Amino acid sequence: MDYKKIADLLFPNAKDVNQIESLYPKRQLKEGQVVSRFAPSPTGFMHIGNFFQMFISYNLTRVTDGIFFLRIEDTDFKREKKDAVNVVYEVLKKFGIKPDEYQTLDGVDIGDYGPYVQSQRLEIYQTYAKKLVAEGKAFPCFCRKTEGKEDVLKLRETKFNEDDEKEYDPCRNLTFEEIKQKIENGEKFAIRLKTKNTGKERIKFYDLIKGEIEAKANAKDFVILKNDGVPPYAFAHAIDDTLMGTTIVVRGEEYISSTPAHLELFDALGFKHPTYCHNPLICKIGENGNRRKISKRFDEEADMRYYFEQGYPETAVLEYLLNIINSGFEIWRANNPDKPWQEFKFGVKEITTVAPIFDLVKLNDISKNVIAKMSAQQVYENVLNWAKDYDKVFYKFLVENKEYAIKVFNIDREGPKPRKDIYKWSMIEDTFDYMFHKPKLLIEDKAKFNAFISSYLDEFTFPKEKEEWFAKVKEVAGKLGYALDNKQYKLNPEKFAGNVAKACEHIRIALTGRKDAPDLFELIQILGEEEVKARLKSSLD
Ligand code: GLU
Repeated sequence: MDYKKIADLLFPNAKDVNQIESLYPKRQLKEGQVVSRFAPSPTGFMHIGNFFQMFISYNLTRVTDGIFFLRIEDTDFKREKKDAVNVVYEVLKKFGIKPDEYQTLDGVDIGDYGPYVQSQRLEIYQTYAKKLVAEGKAFPCFCRKTEGKEDVLKLRETKFNEDDEKEYDPCRNLTFEEIKQKIENGEKFAIRLKTKNTGKERIKFYDLIKGEIEAKANAKDFVILKNDGVPPYAFAHAIDDTLMGTTIVVRGEEYISSTPAHLELFDALGFKHPTYCHNPLICKIGENGNRRKISKRFDEEADMRYYFEQGYPETAVLEYLLNIINSGFEIWRANNPDKPWQEFKFGVKEITTVAPIFDLVKLNDISKNVIAKMSAQQVYENVLNWAKDYDKVFYKFLVENKEYAIKVFNIDREGPKPRKDIYKWSMIEDTFDYMFHKPKLLIEDKAKFNAFISSYLDEFTFPKEKEEWFAKVKEVAGKLGYALDNKQYKLNPEKFAGNVAKACEHIRIALTGRKDAPDLFELIQILGEEEVKARLKSSLD
């Protein structure tokens, strides 16, 4: 068979492989340096599973001082691409993940191994398709679903996979003349790999997480270039990861079953096998109690934008993911409570082999700790940033009342036991609602409450010291028959209007609407004299 002639006929304008390869010299790496990548298909949103996989790649390169690059896999995408790509960039940027090599949004390649966008690499894929045809390792296929060829296509998927039946494939052994005729007739062609396997072979490959895997070798003549000149995933993966010098391919474990086909392609192309690292997928426990993949359809937290909308600090989300990816992280964090996560030595051996279960409670816990370590100023900046996009009214308030808001965020923050109740920015307005809005009051004994508050209001002077403030509360309480000595009160509660704690509760309710607000003296200082008086007064109505 004249394969070379067929190749020239199919791809008259394709470049020479050497020409391409001279543009992608082998990377000069130091011992142990990892080159890995994030290769999302832009769909307009980012699934937490993709982010999870990205973060493994990122960490493997980070700890080896390696190279982390971003490759946009936009070959299978007919809809508006630009916006979808924007989402990828936006998410990475917000999380502070900067690839070493990528293509900027206005199309400039940063790095020597681009273009980093697959739709700009079609010429490269054609060059290699031509090479395979010229070597008799691939063939043009003119079958089309629309031409009543369904039977052939079905056979190809089933019978032709298994044994010599492949020889009956109507396209596998077309002659040069037959192909030429079809092309002259304007028929379009795809390119299929001509597998060398019969369906009986098995292969072994090594996976960094799963160890050695044995599987049935590929025996399908699968498509490597569609009839529009665009490659499906497998072909683009083999070529790009080779030319771009990826040393570890991190991807979801759903790709394990097609790895034998990918490896056959690497062999046919004369490429070295990459090292694979198939990560487990994040799960949830479904209604029926079984594990299921976390999914965009059922779980809002599957979309990375959820964390922005809710206002989780990015560090909290990253630390949570480190927790579920790497068994070493939790211990490291416990031993190094104040170090940034970037100092954690992420080891391949500690990557989880079982599917982690997504746990919002755990994320919230981590986030509470992250926020507890922030200063009031940092909290303010973070909340402001969040509110700018997600709560315009609150944003305006924060801008206009910066000093006040920082004081509020400082309540119970400094000191040995900082508050740990806040885990996302969207909850902070509610947490301190009594400081930002006039409280709604629920008063159990209105007569008693009014009696106390009106006397307290009459005698109110803005306190400078806590002792001074407390002395005044006691003074008013004493006059109204409250017990100043709690022991006395406990012995004969019916003899008193209440105790000092009860008196404080009246003030707390008047000022905040709550029985459990933080330190009253501190609140009074932040609210200021006028606001305190106004609140005391309006609580009487
Ligand atoms: N574009 C593929 C995906 O998003 C990439 C898989 C890979 O990382 O190789 O699933």
